[in-house]
Amino acid sequence: MSCRICGRRAKSEFCKRHEEAYKSILEGYREWREAMSISWREYLEEIAKNPYSGKWVKDVASYLLAKSAAEEKR
Ligand SMILES: [Zn+2]
Repeated sequence: MSCRICGRRAKSEFCKRHEEAYKSILEGYREWREAMSISWREYLEEIAKNPYSGKWVKDVASYLLAKSAAEEKR
């Protein structure tokens, strides 16, 4: 299997670096949800446009946004 984002070899949907970034996104969302009402989509958009987000995290956020946009069109 290869990473859906960068194509590197992966054991699951993402390679190790992107998997780690994905986990930190999920964790961050849990924290944000406690502090404010924000949708998953809005949260991802915040990450994608935040200049302080790391590259790996941004990759994953953009990927998830594109994916959820594609799912909505169905
Ligand atoms: Zn990757």
